[in-house]
Amino acid sequence: MSKKSSEALGKVKYSTEQQGKIEIKNISRIFTIRRKNNEEKKDFIAIENVNLTVYKGEFLAIVGPSGCGKSTLLDIIAGLSKPDSGEIHIDNKLITKPDLDRGIVMQGYALFPWRTVRKNVEFGLEIKKVPKNQRKDIIDKYINLVGLNEFKDRYPYELSGGMKQRVAIARALAYDPEVLLMDEPFAAVDAQTRETLQDELLRIWDETSKTIIFVTHSIDEAVALADRVAVMSTNPGTIKEIIEVKLPRPRRVSDVISSADFSWIRHKIWELLQNEEKESRKIVKPEKDLAEEISTYAQL
Ligand code: ADP
Ligand code: MG
Repeated sequence: MSKKSSEALGKVKYSTEQQGKIEIKNISRIFTIRRKNNEEKKDFIAIENVNLTVYKGEFLAIVGPSGCGKSTLLDIIAGLSKPDSGEIHIDNKLITKPDLDRGIVMQGYALFPWRTVRKNVEFGLEIKKVPKNQRKDIIDKYINLVGLNEFKDRYPYELSGGMKQRVAIARALAYDPEVLLMDEPFAAVDAQTRETLQDELLRIWDETSKTIIFVTHSIDEAVALADRVAVMSTNPGTIKEIIEVKLPRPRRVSDVISSADFSWIRHKIWELLQNEEKESRKIVKPEKDLAEEISTYAQL
């Protein structure tokens, strides 16, 4: 990268000099897996010693190969599962369970099929005990923000994948959490819709100043959206390196992905992940040789 391009090109909203909004310290998660007719149990370290500081107002992406523990980590931050060791604090408060300070948007849409768009978005407001007469304005605001004004009274089965994901985002935003946790939220939508949703998310983030942790397996998506990209290694999953993305803001995905700086950062992360794949191939030895396996079936 040239000197010029390695300098900050855009204004970032967060400062690494302040204390972290989210402090992830020494997080490990072990799953007990059963093999061979449930007789043999084995501990499997899904993530080990994950340390990460996420700053207030930051857009942080986490990338890594499939199975490296991205969802496991996000579930722990969400409070949906407990770590075997380590602690996570948000604003100095220990995370022990899900709470309204965190909005969650999962890989699937996870909408309530029996509720209309309006009622899905209302969900968090009910839990937060927002008085009924104040809910309508909030619901309208967030449905408008994700561009679904015409679809307020539709049920999820009447919506496309992209629209469902918009509802999930509106639902997560409506109760105004300071932190948004997103696990491959756009993985299931077509490429064109994905880019629209990415741009919408950037706009919403700009307007609302949330702190976002965004899990993806797409390097392009991570670089296009984030201020920093945490690259995970596998076996066991841990944070391998954090790459800063000093691309100008506000961004539009189609504009940033054509820039030379984007390609450079993208390539750097790609190389890290390539090495990772090589490493994981070294560690995970197949129990049987492939030819041996095939010959068993072929009875050669
Ligand atoms: P990623 O989201 O990066 O694809 P996950 O966090 O879903 O990865 O999974 C990390 C590893 O932990 C994988 O090898 C997965 O099979 C394993 N794993 C996840 N959840 C469980 C579970 N409930 N029981 C056993 N193993 C699990
Ligand atoms: Mg996952």
